[in-house]
Parts: sequence; structure tokens; C-alpha cells
Amino acid sequence: MSTDWTPTLWSECFEEMLDEELDSSDQWAFHFNYGLTEALTKEERRRGWRVYNHCAYGRFQCGGCSKTWRSARVVLMFRYRLRDTTARGTVLMRPYGQACKRCREEFELPGFSQNEVEEALLGLFGKIKKNCYDEDEEEEEEEEEEEDEEEEEEEEEEEEEEEEDGSEKVSRRPHEKALCEACRLGNCCQE
Ligand SMILES: [Zn+2]
Ligand SMILES: [Zn+2]
Repeated sequence: MSTDWTPTLWSECFEEMLDEELDSSDQWAFHFNYGLTEALTKEERRRGWRVYNHCAYGRFQCGGCSKTWRSARVVLMFRYRLRDTTARGTVLMRPYGQACKRCREEFELPGFSQNEVEEALLGLFGKIKKNCYDEDEEEEEEEEEEEDEEEEEEEEEEEEEEEEDGSEKVSRRPHEKALCEACRLGNCCQE
């Protein structure tokens, strides 16, 4: 899994999954907006915008000290809408960062495995199908199972790696709100 934020991985996956997931000839565009806010204004709501938040497993590297860490609470925010009149859909994505525990400076953007990207986009397409195309969401049972898993993993949320003299030490710690951009903005996936 890479620690680099790679927008192309996301946009390419989106393009690939579009044909498989949506049974429609509508044109969908996928963009990034790093200043996107969660709260929709009345006007935005009226224009059909909706929000979907996904909690993913991602990996980070500090630009200052090169320390790497992993987190099971990396928040990805999506806004989406379909304009019926033009048959064009738009998705905007904002990844939330985390700061290095040691340096506590900038929020670094997360890197993901292809699997994580696909899982996040599957969740997004599920919402699009339900809210833009009136298709039912299929996965009620699966969602319950996921909740159970989350409980078990409660104590393994974040992992630090120290790679000094070739050895790798991994320690586990709870989610640190002060280092999470989504927590800072009141938009994290916990609870
Ligand atoms: Zn650092
Ligand atoms: Zn958080």
C-alpha cells in the first residue's frame, strides 16, 4: 500500500466502475475539491447535491520527518448530484488528512490500496443508485456484519511504524482527534 495521495488512481477507478455499476448512459464527471465543506446550503440541496462520507483504511507519510503510519479512520467526503435536464452527473471528492504525531504540523494526504479505493467507490455508487436512480440498496445484511467487525477492531485503529536499523516496530494506538483533519472539522466517521 502506498503512502502517496494519488488522484489518478481514484479517477481511473471511477471511470472503470462507472460502466459496471451504473445502468445508465448519463455522463458522470469526477473531480477533486480539497476545500469542500460537508454542510450543504439550502440552495445546494435544492440543486440536488448530496453528501456521502466513507471511512477507509489508509496510509500516511510525514513530509517533515518521513515517519509513516496507518489509520482505519481516514475520512473521504463525496458530494454528488445528477442533473436530469442535462443527464450529467458530478462527483466531488475531498480526502481528509492526518498530521504526524511527532511534528504536528501539516495534514498529510492519505495513500490507499486499489481495494480500498474500489470499496469506497462501491459505497458511493450504492448511494448514487439509490438517490439518483431510485434503485434499492441491496446490502443491509452486509452492513450489519461490518458493524460487528468494527467493534472487534476497536483497539487496532492506528498503527505506527518505526523503521530504524532495518527493524520494524509496530505499535497500536487509539484514534487521535487532534491529529485528524476530519475530527478537527467535526466530520469524522467515528460514533
Ligand atoms: Zn513528522
Ligand atoms: Zn478523526
